[in-house]
Amino acid sequence: MQTVEYVDLLGDTIIERVSEARRKPTTPNGYAGSPGRGPAGETCRSCQHKRSTGSSTARTYWKCGLMQAHWTGGPGTDIRMRSPACQFWAREQGE
Ligand code: SF4
Repeated sequence: MQTVEYVDLLGDTIIERVSEARRKPTTPNGYAGSPGRGPAGETCRSCQHKRSTGSSTARTYWKCGLMQAHWTGGPGTDIRMRSPACQFWAREQGE
């Protein structure tokens, strides 16, 4: 907590306690390999290793199944469907 002191338009001194700066949003980084090292034009969306988590219909969280041992409940182990395929990409069955 920080304390900020200022004078308002009526000349009264105002002291406010403000929380620390907002945390930077966590970047999804749950990829098994390096995005972009897989086949050109493919993405995590077309990979058989992608997994959706969460039972809510409000939001789907995507993770890489190859990284399941390292999954947390947080966004740091998420992946983005539009990310370029990594070197472990494998074609989704049935495509
Ligand atoms: S391309 Fe497949 S193996 Fe690679 S991070 Fe995405 S879902 Fe995982």
